[in-house]
Amino acid sequence: MNSHYLSTSRNNPQLYAFSQLFESSGYVDLQPEWKEQVQQTAWLEFWRREGHELLEVNWHRQHPDYKLAIELASVEERASWQQLWEEHASDQSAVFWHIFSCALDNYEQDLINGLRGVEQSLKEIDENLTHLYIERSESSDSESLDDEQQQLRLLGLPTSFGVQTERIKHKSKRQPANESESECDANSLNMDNDNNEILHAVQTRTIKKTKDKKKNNKSRIPHFMRDNEKPLLKYWLKRFSLFSRFDQGIQLDPESWYSVTPEKVARQTARRLACDVIVDAFCGCGGNAIQFAKTCGRVIAIDIDAGKLAMAKHNAGIYGVAHKIDFIQADFLQFASSTSLRPDVVFLSPPWGGPDYLKQANFDIEQCLLPLGAKQLIQYARRLTNNIGFFLPRNSNLKQVIALTHPGQQCEMEYNYLNVRLVAITAYYGDSLIIPKK
Ligand code: ADP
Repeated sequence: MNSHYLSTSRNNPQLYAFSQLFESSGYVDLQPEWKEQVQQTAWLEFWRREGHELLEVNWHRQHPDYKLAIELASVEERASWQQLWEEHASDQSAVFWHIFSCALDNYEQDLINGLRGVEQSLKEIDENLTHLYIERSESSDSESLDDEQQQLRLLGLPTSFGVQTERIKHKSKRQPANESESECDANSLNMDNDNNEILHAVQTRTIKKTKDKKKNNKSRIPHFMRDNEKPLLKYWLKRFSLFSRFDQGIQLDPESWYSVTPEKVARQTARRLACDVIVDAFCGCGGNAIQFAKTCGRVIAIDIDAGKLAMAKHNAGIYGVAHKIDFIQADFLQFASSTSLRPDVVFLSPPWGGPDYLKQANFDIEQCLLPLGAKQLIQYARRLTNNIGFFLPRNSNLKQVIALTHPGQQCEMEYNYLNVRLVAITAYYGDSLIIPKK
């Protein structure tokens, strides 16, 4: 059922978060109509909330000179712009719908697997992960590919338009963003454009701008990535997914490149955990704390490592939120045992043990999390509050995650997808966070 058969030329992946409530008993009954209902409600809600903005953002990216051009446009040119906008809106909604449907397919499969506690063979997992590694999927000239292509490969998406729906094939009139797209699109571009000189002129105006925007940033790749035997370039290519303001001087140490939460996921968690006072128990370089500072009154950011805290503070400054965060160097276990602070929410994002966590078929959250197993860790957090967000590996054993719920209560499991790729699971516990099922 998993489908990686997607069409997109955007280098900024979209977040899809699907969530489901579970009883503490771990029992769940996915009715046959479950998927249909989720698909309808989730898509309508998503498109109502974000559709217009997505259309606008992509439009202005493709047509950076639009605002000026429309002011000077003749009546005929305005009509052409209008036609172009309508095509754009219909293209984009089809593309987003397609990606959304694939993410939902993956969600269904991931959920069923997680609930069954499926024991996948390591070989199978290895095959599924192959596309995540540049060195295996790229030819030797990979460095010459531009960032956008690399990002698509990392996400497991094709770098050229290959979607099978007639709708999208038919709609590939827009200017291709890279060479591999242009090859493909050349077949489907028909001569209508030539017959409409004004529309053509409107379209060609964007070509130059788009090409001009490409930059060569290679000199700024951290040394440890360039020098490493295994190319770690994939983390560099994801830098704007991690911090949209990366270029303004974000600081990350090598460890944090692997573990920092992508910004869109952190923003979603912060929306979900909005409150007066939140404790971010393992704050690292600040990816989550920065987003919490935007939705919460006060953030207590704890880390055992002073160097990490210094970077978190610096990064928070770049986002203009450092004044809302208290940075505390401490072992969270000691902090929880001794503080009289009673925050509204505790967010746990403990070490997963580096990228090797993915080598396990079913990540054992009792054996492999640091500094303690999940059950003990959440007990420490519950000394401060019952309302807890727990950021966990995407291959976590779901039965163990559900077992952290208080008897008779529910937990909410949120699956965070960037486009179709499951990034991580966030589990929510506690009366104030969970709205019980009726
Ligand atoms: P991962 O294994 O997911 O890569 P990290 O090793 O980056 O995670 O750990 C996340 C953060 O947790 C790090 O910044 C680390 O310093 C911090 N950390 C580890 N142990 C503790 C602890 N006992 N108390 C507070 N922070 C801790």
